[in-house]
Amino acid sequence: MSTSNTKLNDLCDNLEGCKLDVERKISDEELFKQPPPLYDDCPICFERMPIIPTGSKYKSCCGTLICSGCIYAPVYDDQGNVIVEQVCAFCRAPFPSTLAEVTEREMKRMEVNDAQAIQNLGCNYREGACGFTQDYKKALELFHRAAELGCVKAYTNISNAYNHGEGVEVDIKKTVYYYKLAAMKGDVMARCNLGTIEEHVGNEDRALKHYLIAAKGGYSKSLKRIQILYLKGHATKEEYTRALRLYQEYLSEIKSDQRDKAAAAHERYRYY
Ligand SMILES: [Zn+2]
Ligand SMILES: [Zn+2]
Repeated sequence: MSTSNTKLNDLCDNLEGCKLDVERKISDEELFKQPPPLYDDCPICFERMPIIPTGSKYKSCCGTLICSGCIYAPVYDDQGNVIVEQVCAFCRAPFPSTLAEVTEREMKRMEVNDAQAIQNLGCNYREGACGFTQDYKKALELFHRAAELGCVKAYTNISNAYNHGEGVEVDIKKTVYYYKLAAMKGDVMARCNLGTIEEHVGNEDRALKHYLIAAKGGYSKSLKRIQILYLKGHATKEEYTRALRLYQEYLSEIKSDQRDKAAAAHERYRYY
């Protein structure tokens, strides 16, 4: 672990000069455009990827995000026989046996600029998890690097850092700015947060727009928000019905027999 951490420290030092996004004006046209889905389709079953954390898993061996169904399904060799040993469904690498091995693999992925690996290491620093000493500043640097490399969730993590003053001064303007960047790239949780912020300042019409986009992206909590807006008279019955329909469309795109089997087998494979 100590060798790994020295290596990681060197990598983090190299990131210190990485530029932070300069705030720019975001037009409503950009902000309220329906973004792409949060994740690419599963590279094994080609179905739309579920958005909840238990719906997919990042594999540190090959840097691939795999859906819950494919994680649970048996893996076959090229003769069609089930591989008994636990291996990655994508690259066939054996499962790591220790947390230190996971970290080692993620650092290797970081060296090849894998945005998700960099984001995961940032989370380890933020939480002081997996043998890392808690360091908010280092976490934030890693989130910036991951965001620049295309990790959508890293934008939300930057926003949360500004919101809670972790590694930076609390800055609400920056919190909102990074939520917007995350939302425009498909993060439905950030999108729903923007809706809540708009609701707090009395902009129910803007809140509703955010919630509808989040519902289409598969965020069930935004349905509840729209229901409340409807009950308070800030949304029409048609708008609420539309939200339910958009969410149903998301569900029909992510549903699969294999994922259902996985979810029935264990809560850790729940995907909606
Ligand atoms: Zn899959
Ligand atoms: Zn793999």
